[in-house]
Formats: sequence, C-alpha cells, structure tokens
Amino acid sequence: MTLVDSPEKRQSLHEQAVRQFHEAAEIMDLNPDYRAILAHPKNEVIVNFPVRMDSGEYRSFRGYRIQHNNLLGPYKGGIRFSPHVDLDEVKALATWMTWKSALCDIPFGGGKGGIAFNPREHSREELERIVRRFTHALGSNIGPDHDIPAPDLGSNGQTMVWMMDTYANSTAAANRQSVKGVVTGKPIESGGSLGREKATGQGVLFSLQHWCDETGTDLAGLRVAIQGYGNVGSNVGRLFEVYGAQVIAVADHTGAIINNDGISAFELAEHVEKVGGVAGYSAAGECSVEDFWAADVDVLVPAALENQITMANVDSIQARLIIEAANGPTTPNAELAFLAGGGEVLPDILVNAGGVVVSYFEWLQNKSAQPWTLDVVDHKLRDTLMAAADRTVVAKGNFGCTRRHAAYIVALDKLQRVYNQRGIFP
Ligand code: NAD
Repeated sequence: MTLVDSPEKRQSLHEQAVRQFHEAAEIMDLNPDYRAILAHPKNEVIVNFPVRMDSGEYRSFRGYRIQHNNLLGPYKGGIRFSPHVDLDEVKALATWMTWKSALCDIPFGGGKGGIAFNPREHSREELERIVRRFTHALGSNIGPDHDIPAPDLGSNGQTMVWMMDTYANSTAAANRQSVKGVVTGKPIESGGSLGREKATGQGVLFSLQHWCDETGTDLAGLRVAIQGYGNVGSNVGRLFEVYGAQVIAVADHTGAIINNDGISAFELAEHVEKVGGVAGYSAAGECSVEDFWAADVDVLVPAALENQITMANVDSIQARLIIEAANGPTTPNAELAFLAGGGEVLPDILVNAGGVVVSYFEWLQNKSAQPWTLDVVDHKLRDTLMAAADRTVVAKGNFGCTRRHAAYIVALDKLQRVYNQRGIFP
C-alpha cells in the first residue's frame, strides 16, 4: 500500500484523536453506548474577554476550556498559550487527557484549555492581566473538585499561581485556603509539589527505561535527537544524559543544532534559559530542520508540537524509536509508515503522563496540607508509570495490536468497567 500525504493534511487533530479512539474501540469491542459518549467532549466552554494592554488600549482574547470526561474524577489538563490554539486542538488534547488518567489508574478525567495568543509578544504585566481575566471569565467552570488546570505549551508555574490567586480571591474568605488545588504545577512555595516541574521529562525517562528492559537495550550510549527544549524537552535531555544517553541534535522555534560528538544537555538548558532558544549555542553547529529529522540517532523525542512527524519527513528519520513526549506529534499515516519500516513508537498517552500523575500527587498534598519528599514523589511516579507500561505490554500481546492501540485499550477497559458498574445516568 502506498501512503500518500494528502489525507492526513485534511484530517484535523481532533479527527486524528477520534480515529485512534475508534480503532482501539473496534479492536477491543467497546460497548457502543460508551463509544458514543467517549467520542465527544462533555462540555466545550469558550470565553471572549477584554484585557488592557500596557498602551492603555483594550484587546479581546478568546479562551477555551474543554471538559472531555469526568467519570473517574475531576476534569484535568493543561492550559496552552499559542497562536494556533483553537477549538479543534483543545478538543483533541482534552480527549487524550481522559485516556492518560485512565491508563495510569489515577482518579481524574480529561480536560484541556488555552488562549489563542503568543505569550512571547507580551510584557509580564500584560500576561498577568490576561491570565487573571481568563480565570475570572472561566468562573465556576473550574474548581479543585471539578476541573483542575495545569501548565502546558507556553504557560508555566507563574501562570498557575495567578490562576490560583484569582480563583481564591473570587471565593468566600473562609474557604480561600482550601482551594489551592484548583490548579497544579504551582511553584513549591505556593503549594506546588517537589518533582512536578521535571515530572513529564522524568516520566519520559521511565518509559525509555521500561522499553530498554523489555527489549534488552542498553540506555547508556543511545544517541538522541530532541525537538523542543522547553519544560519537557530540556528535562528529557538532562535526565537522559545523567543515564548515559547522548544528545546529538536539538530543534526548537529558533532553529536547529547538531553535534555528532554530543551536546551538553545541561549547558544547552542554561543557554536556552538565558537567550530563549537553542539558536546561537556555540558548542554545536546550526543545521536545517531537514537535517535535524535525518540526524544519525537511535532515538527521536518530539517534545514540542503536534503533527511534526508526517509523511513528508518520516522516511528521512534514522532513529528506530520515537518517544512521544509531546501530544500528538506523529500523524496516523506517518506512524503506520514508521512501524512498517521496522521502527517502534512509544505513544504520547503513556510517555508524557508523568505530568498528570505528579499533578495528582500535588493535588493530594494540597488536600492533606502535607508535603511529600522528592524521593516519595519520584518512587510513586515510577511505580505508577511502570505499572501502566506493563499493562500496555500485556494488552499489546493479548490483542496483537500496536503499542498505541494497546495503551488505549487499557484506558478504555478501565472506563468500561466503571460505566458497567455505575450505568449511564439517568
Ligand atoms: P514549553 O512551552 O515549555 O516548550 C515548548 C518547546 O517547543 C519550546 O522549546 C519551543 O521552542 C518549541 N517549539 C515551539 N514551536 C516550535 C516549532 N514550530 N518548531 C520547533 N519547536 C517549537 O512546553 P512544554 O510544557 O515543554 O510542552 C511541550 C509538549 O509536551 C507539548 O506537546 C505539551 O502538550 C506536551 N506536554 C507537556 C506537559 C507538561 O507537564 N508541561 C505534560 C504532558 C505533555
């Protein structure tokens, strides 16, 4: 079969997410009523709100919060700031959150939100006003036992503090201390958890370690290319380096760099922190985006945006393993082509679940007002993700399917068992 590029270009991100869901539902023979419910988000909230710019002018922003499913617990998922944010994108991301929580067996549902704007074009003061006004506009659509945002692309711990503070100040004075868990991914001083900032990267490392054990591969010495060097990518680079892997190529929104003798992940993280991107890093040569994808590496870690590995570049990829740290980085057709060529893909809902798992730990710490040590966080995260990866491998064997479909089947089976017990209201 010849795979062509055009069909995937016509498929929206949400259509891709729903396609993956239906494929897995078909393989496992999911109850058709549950299938109909899970194919759509429960709630789609869109808010338009005005914000005063530093110039004194007002600008209108559009924000989204999609609540996909809350059968297992409160809606949970990040807030994304990017000019590309739209309803379709957040619907797909919210859907994936439901599968992630179910796969990892944590008591959360799936949600996602965002604002369509470029945070790099705004002063800190403007950013604060945008975030606070957005939180106010969402009002009671979020809440510590209802819907719990977290950082994602373009947002960070500071964003979460502004959201928490705005939410708390809109709450009756006597209840303000009990609503810290309305967001996760907060800085430690403001109620965050040790290990949350690196959690997604840490989970990517655990996924690779699990795969190495499964396949008898030595992690030390693996050559790695990473797309995106923000929260997730830079933690992946540093953690992989600690375990002996070698970062060879890195790309981000400022350009791409390569050094076949290895790039210091720690020095590069300092450079990015200082100048805002990988461009200009002097201990590696600049390269084209095409050369980045074709880098002579064993492992490719997309940790930036969706739809990055497509039919247009998949054939040039030298890596034999794609570890999806980003959400939806590989189009369905590109995945088929990569697998057909003998490659392996560790799917996003398993690989990047470390963020939501430690968010759950942060939420538990907020509820009990008891901080956990980093050791406890890391050990519990390891146990949770290794168990999810084990369940995925078992399902892959039982159903003879891809690893992505297997991860979906584990998640859908969990949801199906709960729907069987609870029934569909009324
Ligand atoms: P971030 O904003 O910290 O970093 C994003 C990175 O992507 C930056 O290095 C940026 O330069 C790069 N990038 C942006 N546009 C690009 C382009 N056109 N080409 C190449 N690189 C580009 O975001 P993050 O939190 O690291 O999130 C990265 C991915 O991981 C996203 O898909 C996000 O949904 C996913 N994710 C994040 C978390 C989390 O805890 N932060 C959890 C799960 C999944």
